[in-house]
Amino acid sequence: MTKTCRECNEDTDEPVPVALEHVASGAGRVVYLCPLCRYALGLVPLDQHPRDSYGFPLYEAHAL
Ligand SMILES: [Zn+2]
Repeated sequence: MTKTCRECNEDTDEPVPVALEHVASGAGRVVYLCPLCRYALGLVPLDQHPRDSYGFPLYEAHAL
């Protein structure tokens, strides 16, 4: 399924869901990034968020 990357606005065949957008009306929208931007920003894919995550963007802890 092709999605538009939120970061670079390019269409990608491999969209990575990284967050839920919370809107006042209720239902959130999924924010997608292309794999390149996902990696560059260090965002954790939505399906790897902790169970208690509310869908806010989560950054990978970089190894020191
Ligand atoms: Zn991108």
